[in-house]
Amino acid sequence: MDIRYLAPQTLDEAVSAFAAAQGSARILAGGTDLLVQMRSGVARPGLIVDIKKIGVMTEITEAADGSFRIGAAVSGATLAEHRRFGKVWPGVLEAINLIGSKQVQGRASPGGNLCNGSPAGDSVPAMVAAGAVVTVQGPNGRRTMPVEAVPAGPGRTNLAPGEIVVSFTLPPRAPGSSDAYLRMIPRTEMDIAVVGLGASLTLQGGVVTTARIGLGAVAPTVLLVEDAAKALVGSKLDDAALEAAAAACRAACKPINDKRGTIAYRTKVAGVLLKRTAAIAAARAQGALGGN
Ligand SMILES: Cc1cc2nc3c(=O)[nH]c(=O)nc-3n(C[C@H](O)[C@H](O)[C@H](O)COP(=O)(O)OP(=O)(O)OC[C@H]3O[C@@H](n4cnc5c(N)ncnc54)[C@H](O)[C@@H]3O)c2cc1C
Repeated sequence: MDIRYLAPQTLDEAVSAFAAAQGSARILAGGTDLLVQMRSGVARPGLIVDIKKIGVMTEITEAADGSFRIGAAVSGATLAEHRRFGKVWPGVLEAINLIGSKQVQGRASPGGNLCNGSPAGDSVPAMVAAGAVVTVQGPNGRRTMPVEAVPAGPGRTNLAPGEIVVSFTLPPRAPGSSDAYLRMIPRTEMDIAVVGLGASLTLQGGVVTTARIGLGAVAPTVLLVEDAAKALVGSKLDDAALEAAAAACRAACKPINDKRGTIAYRTKVAGVLLKRTAAIAAARAQGALGGN
C-alpha cells in the first residue's frame, strides 16, 4: 500500500490534512512508537503528517508568570538542553529523560508519549503531577484539557477525530515547590515501567501545602491519585502521612499480571515509590525555598 508523507509548516495545514484523511492518517512526531508499530504491521497509515517542522510544536517558552509552554513535538534532548526548564520541573525532565536511549531521546516527544496511550509512558505521571494542561486543535477549533483526561485506555485517547495535541502548559511554581519521578523496571535500562510515579509538592515551613500525585503502569490509564495528595497536604511528611498516601496509591491500583510484575508486586511497589518520590520532591522543594 502507498503511504503519502506530508510535512506541513503550519498547524492549520496539519489539522486540515489530518482531518481530511478521515482516520487513515497518523501524526508523526519522533516516530519512536509509530515506526515500530508500522514495521510490525500494527499501524498501516495511508498518510503520515509529520509535525516536527511546525514552529509552535517544537518550541519551549517560559511566560512572564513563570508558566512553561512545551510544544508537543519537542524532543527530550531539546528539553534537557533548556536553560531553565529542568531547574523548575526536575521531575518532569527526569521522566522524559528516562525514555529509551540517547538516540530515542533525540526524537521522542512528550506529545507522542501521551498520544501513544501506553499506561506505562514515563512522562505522563510526571505531567499529571505537574498539573499540565494540554492544548488540542482539531477541525472544530482549539480546546484545552488536563493531561490526565487524554488517555482512554491502552493505545487509545480521548482526542476527537482529527485532533492534534499542540502543547503542554505547566503552571507557575510557588516558592518552595518541586517535583520528582521514579519508575521501577525489571532491568537497569531500556525497559517499560512496572510502576511509575510522579509527585509534585509545595512546602511552607516544612508543611506540605499542595500536592499532586500521578501514578502509571498500574491501571488502563495513568491516574491522578487525589487521596494520596490529600494525605500529604497539611503534614510534615511524617511516617503516618506517608503511609496514608502510600495506602491511597495501593488502593488506586488496578494492575495486570504479566512477565514484568504480578498484581501484588505492582501494588506494593506503588506504595514504595510514593514514599521515595515524595521524599525527593520535598528535599528539592526545600532546597528551592526562596524561589526557583
Ligand atoms: C528503544 C525504545 C525504547 C523506549 N523506551 C521507552 C521508555 O523507557 N519509556 C517510555 O515511556 N517510552 C519508551 N519508548 C516509547 C517511545 O519512545 C515514547 O512513547 C515516545 O515518547 C514517543 O514519542 P514520539 O515523538 O516518538 O511519538 P510517535 O511515535 O511520533 O507517536 C506516537 C503516537 O502518538 C501519535 N502522536 C504523536 N504526536 C501527536 C500529537 N501531537 N497529537 C496527536 N497524536 C500524536 C502518533 O500518531 C502515534 O500514534 C521507547 C521506544 C523505543 C523504540
